[in-house]
Amino acid sequence: MSNATDLLHCIPVDPLTGAISVPIYQTSTFVQEAPGVNKGYDYARSNNPTRTALEGIIAKLEKGSTAAAFSSGLAAIDAVIKLLKTGDEIIAVDDIYGGAFRLFTQVYEKFGIKITYVDTTDAANVFNAITPNTKLIWLETPTNPTLKISDIEAIAKIAKVSNCLLCVDSTFASPALQQPINLGADIVVHSATKYLGGHSDLIAGLVICKDRAVGEKIKFLQNACGAILSPFDSWLLIRGLETLHLRVKQHCINAGEVANWLATHPLVDKIYYPGLATHHNHDIATKQSKGFGGIISFSLKEDTEAAAIAFVTSTKYFLLAESLGGIKSLISHPANMTHKSIPAAIRRANGVSDSLIRLSVGLEEAEDLIADLEQAFEKITANNSTTALSSLQTA
Ligand SMILES: *Cc1c(COP(=O)(O)O)cnc(C)c1O
Repeated sequence: MSNATDLLHCIPVDPLTGAISVPIYQTSTFVQEAPGVNKGYDYARSNNPTRTALEGIIAKLEKGSTAAAFSSGLAAIDAVIKLLKTGDEIIAVDDIYGGAFRLFTQVYEKFGIKITYVDTTDAANVFNAITPNTKLIWLETPTNPTLKISDIEAIAKIAKVSNCLLCVDSTFASPALQQPINLGADIVVHSATKYLGGHSDLIAGLVICKDRAVGEKIKFLQNACGAILSPFDSWLLIRGLETLHLRVKQHCINAGEVANWLATHPLVDKIYYPGLATHHNHDIATKQSKGFGGIISFSLKEDTEAAAIAFVTSTKYFLLAESLGGIKSLISHPANMTHKSIPAAIRRANGVSDSLIRLSVGLEEAEDLIADLEQAFEKITANNSTTALSSLQTA
């Protein structure tokens, strides 16, 4: 696993001035001594020293040979899909990030790329879905918002014997908890907007590759298509990364306390957190990650949209917003926010029930967060006129 010492000491000191903070090279071009004779940089879409520093750091953190930084997580995902061609097939996790689903189905299907969605929490389902045209297996683990866990090592073996690439969207875990390349994956992508940036102040994406040959194709696409991360955002992301291990450690502690408390709450129906022994793949989560992260989802006994909306608008520390992984706690209602574009029947079948609530547990004191949730439960109980909820209370 990566650790804080490795991270802090792979952030380069500026060779020119000794600056301990990586300088922001806010420039579009670089003066050349003669045509093609330069100091390693010619034009800032192709390469920029601030972005190069970031890419070097994340490559080391994820144990890859190369990394490329993009202007969003989706731009990073897009670059990976562009490794494919018409006729190729992808096997993807069914509980996939909504934006990836939209990109795959509304952009790439029309270019003749076929996507098969399977429940990857059982590796046998992946094996059974392989065809001679399968070129890429797309995992997210843990998934959003029901925190499904897939066995990276087992699926990496299937990818290897089937001659296709395994890409893991490791956004929810971050390299502080899980390093897919060490487990056999070929490519890791991150929405660095979340835990890696960590402060809800930028949009960024990263692609890290195990093999240099694949990494060079991604670098080519980064320059050819142009969705690069700016020098300032590259610097901001380095600044966020410096405290990654410290932040993620505390996110895990806080989320563990909140999850244990929610698990016994009388108004909670289902709870999804990989750290609970009741989680369907708790053993795999324990085997492949150092901790269980800061995201928890739960549904209410009164499984209605109205109850969930009343709850998410009653918290004071958990702020109602999309996104996750920042220092401040966030709360969201996937059915009406991140998963609104998914047809209700499909959404419900994937566990995103009408009352499902997702928490991104931040770095406030855990006891304050629990008190905040408790007062929200009290508020919806007091407000609620339906007999279902009041009978629960008296039961
Ligand atoms: C947010 C997110 C993305 C998309 O990243 P952006 O930075 O918003 O483009 C991709 N995958 C997962 C798992 C995410 O949570």
